[in-house]
Amino acid sequence: MTGRLDGRTALVTGASRGIGFQLARLLAAEGAHVIAVARTVGGLEDLDDLIKGDGGSATLVPLDLKDMGGIDRLGGAIAERWGKLDIFVGNAGRLGVLAPIGHIEAKTFEEAMTVNVTSTWRMIRSLDPLLRRSDAGRAIIMSSGAAHSCKAFWSLYAASKAAVEALARSWAAETENLPLRVNSVNPGATRTAMRAQAMPGEDPKTLPTAKEVAEKILPLALPDLTETGRVFDVRQNRFLNYHMPD
Ligand code: NDP
Repeated sequence: MTGRLDGRTALVTGASRGIGFQLARLLAAEGAHVIAVARTVGGLEDLDDLIKGDGGSATLVPLDLKDMGGIDRLGGAIAERWGKLDIFVGNAGRLGVLAPIGHIEAKTFEEAMTVNVTSTWRMIRSLDPLLRRSDAGRAIIMSSGAAHSCKAFWSLYAASKAAVEALARSWAAETENLPLRVNSVNPGATRTAMRAQAMPGEDPKTLPTAKEVAEKILPLALPDLTETGRVFDVRQNRFLNYHMPD
């Protein structure tokens, strides 16, 4: 690694496993101090061990993202300690359930929407002033191809991902004249716990690993990125353009 993020601070949600875990490790290996957020302390500690082994540093934040007050307090704590934030990766997510739209339990719907959408908005609200203070603020919001494919039985997850993409694009439009660059990512099918939950019959070895996917996402966090308000498709390794005419 080349220390391309030396002196920078990066917050990653969903850092206890999967894509978020691997991306957090890569950001730290590039020199960023990583603020790692998730509920599972064991997963965060495993990440911390690896980051320290690589010579990097992390702050672990065990937090349930359904705790909106906790998100606000986290923003306040970052402001106090660092005064700014350079990178925000809104990666935590829930599949909810794959089911006919009329069969989804209200509690399941509300929980997935809270973790996927409301907590992402709340993080954005809390972190936006801090990211604006960075000379190269970067925000990466994890979406999914489901946001656009809208397949049968995926309604809950698809709606939540369409919503976060819309949040990201609107935020990008609000900040386009600043150094802050805001993009969403479609990681594509990836060998993680969430994918196994969605597709239990699939052989995980046919899928790219979370590390391989994270390596493709890393450039979106780097200071030389110019794109904003776009969707980056990992499988195609390029930005897609979903902009519609006014
Ligand atoms: P995983 O299920 O492996 O990891 C999800 C992460 O989100 C975990 O770290 C989990 O931490 C965290 N999380 C879930 N609920 C909460 C909560 N209430 N509070 C705090 N953290 C929470 O998922 P992936 O790595 O596969 O997915 C990462 C992102 O990529 C997600 O947004 C997903 O929708 C998206 N994606 C994934 C694809 C795939 O094929 N894997 C395809 C397309 C998009 P903990 O449980 O410790 O709290």
